[in-house]
Amino acid sequence: MSMVSHELKTPLTSLKGYLQILEQRAKKAQESTSILMHDKANSQIKKMITMINGFLNVSRLDSGKIHIEKKNFDITSLFKEADEEARSTIFSHQVIFTEAESVILNADRDKVGQVIHNFVSNAVKYSPEGSQVLVSNKIKNGELLVEVKDQGRGIKPQDKDKLFDRFYRVVNDDIISGFGIGLYLCAEIIARHQGKIGVESEFGAGSTFWFSLPIYAVIA
Ligand code: ADP
Repeated sequence: MSMVSHELKTPLTSLKGYLQILEQRAKKAQESTSILMHDKANSQIKKMITMINGFLNVSRLDSGKIHIEKKNFDITSLFKEADEEARSTIFSHQVIFTEAESVILNADRDKVGQVIHNFVSNAVKYSPEGSQVLVSNKIKNGELLVEVKDQGRGIKPQDKDKLFDRFYRVVNDDIISGFGIGLYLCAEIIARHQGKIGVESEFGAGSTFWFSLPIYAVIA
């Protein structure tokens, strides 16, 4: 799987390069339709790269290669980065990051960032355009609790526990592309940090995905 994933990425990278050249030409000639089409093609390529990366991650998990590199970092800076990323890439929803607790974690910074990113992408993917996605954190029971709350369609009780299983997707999700690996990977990452992960939801009334991690130190 890992080899196939790499093989799939190579032609995509060159496709992206050619598209960039076309974009420059279209911009020079001020061809608005071509620019629009370029943007659409580019976003499809991005989707494909995300899927391939997902497969690559699963294959790494299979071979026990997903390794966690822990170091001390302040969650405030990670929240700030995730906020900036959301601001520059998500225009369809109002993604709001509330002020972060100044807490030091001893964890894999990139992987924790990946979990936040995944929760936010799902919140956007499974809720109506223009709705609000709230990302917050607080200290609870001596642990750092991160929550991503959306105003989307919510989750039925029978699906709740299964969402974190590998390849699990809610039955009628065929229309929205995905493979059902994102949350599985999140659960693996959090488990490898001795943390907890879960979701609170009422069907039809939004969901709150959360995870909690042990705190290394609290900055006064
Ligand atoms: P994917 O989104 O690629 O299908 P995930 O593992 O990220 O895979 O999610 C598994 C399933 O959980 C999704 O197919 C969807 O049915 C459900 N889901 C995830 N996030 C949300 C959310 N914020 N609101 C409603 N359903 C969700």
